[in-house]
Amino acid sequence: MTSSTTLRPVPRAGVLAIDAYVPGRSKAAPGRRLIKLSSNETPLGPSPEAVAAFRGAAGDLERYPDGAATALREAIADVHGLNPTRIVCGNGSDELLTLLAHAYLAPGDEGLYGEHGFLVYKIAILAAGGTPVVAPERDLTVDVDALLAAVTPRTRIVYLANPANPTGTYLPFSEIRRLHAGLPGNVVLVLDAAYAEYVRRNDYESGIELVSSSENVVMTRTFSKVHGLAALRIGWLYGPEGVVDALNRTRGPFNLSAPAIAAGAAAIRDRGFLETAVAHNARWLPWLTAEIEALGLTVTPSVANFLLIHFPDKAGRTAAEADEFLTGEGIVLRRVAGYGLPNALRMTVGDEEANRATVAALAAFLGRGR
Ligand SMILES: *Cc1c(COP(=O)(O)O)cnc(C)c1O
Repeated sequence: MTSSTTLRPVPRAGVLAIDAYVPGRSKAAPGRRLIKLSSNETPLGPSPEAVAAFRGAAGDLERYPDGAATALREAIADVHGLNPTRIVCGNGSDELLTLLAHAYLAPGDEGLYGEHGFLVYKIAILAAGGTPVVAPERDLTVDVDALLAAVTPRTRIVYLANPANPTGTYLPFSEIRRLHAGLPGNVVLVLDAAYAEYVRRNDYESGIELVSSSENVVMTRTFSKVHGLAALRIGWLYGPEGVVDALNRTRGPFNLSAPAIAAGAAAIRDRGFLETAVAHNARWLPWLTAEIEALGLTVTPSVANFLLIHFPDKAGRTAAEADEFLTGEGIVLRRVAGYGLPNALRMTVGDEEANRATVAALAAFLGRGR
């Protein structure tokens, strides 16, 4: 018999090629108030109705949740005018992005995304045994021609965040339609619309109509951003019957907890709260952009609830040094070197105090040694 010391479990190909996702930091220097602007969380918290629904679920914790998340799917369907049977809920939209890769990629199949695409796409593709293929972007924006040029007979899935994270840029929907028209019908086009609620552009669409009128497009959404429920892990997908069926076969049978189902349903029905959160962003996103540019830094025009700030590649002024300085001030932004953006930091729009403190700290950083 082979000795147990010579044989050990080995993960299959691809698993050890994964760099585990690194979440935005959430610690400040000891004893300091933390201003956490590193994970695109809302400064307004969740709707009070969602919190009440969450608390209301505390009396039944011995019971399994509804595995079909019916109350949540019906609330989403009501609000968005959708067929609830075409909605799948997930433990965060990350779970849905991952399930899609597992359902549609066989070993050696290719999953495609843009150069600065959300890191979860690469992790999901590798974890499913697929091969990640990266298409270049243009001006920090997804380039439809480059994506189409990267399609091969092995391509089975394309991930596209619109708006994109971490750049904050977006594609007008005519470009998404052009992408869809150029893809073979056996490729799943995943429109990750995590920041859709924030966008105020006439040429933007989240993708609902395209999903309704095609067999190979899905749209994913999340409760982690504008709805302020990141801790509960709630995402949803709207898709064609075939994709919905595949995901319902492969997801965990109780992938959403009962408190999450209850809180999510209450949150999405509270339209007044959503409008307040969107209005807050609409006020502070342009303010931050203007103030930070006035300091001499470049900001990529964003339509989401965060901005990408570019620093000079000059000792004493770099993104890494700015990050260190800000952290010392108790302000945590997101480093994005892992996204191929070593000279930038991503900042989430915070509350008024956080926004003003960050601009002041950036001014102090740039003013050092002048
Ligand atoms: C935040 C984010 C999500 C949402 O993830 P959840 O798992 O729902 O919290 C999805 N896609 C992008 C691009 C994001 O930035």
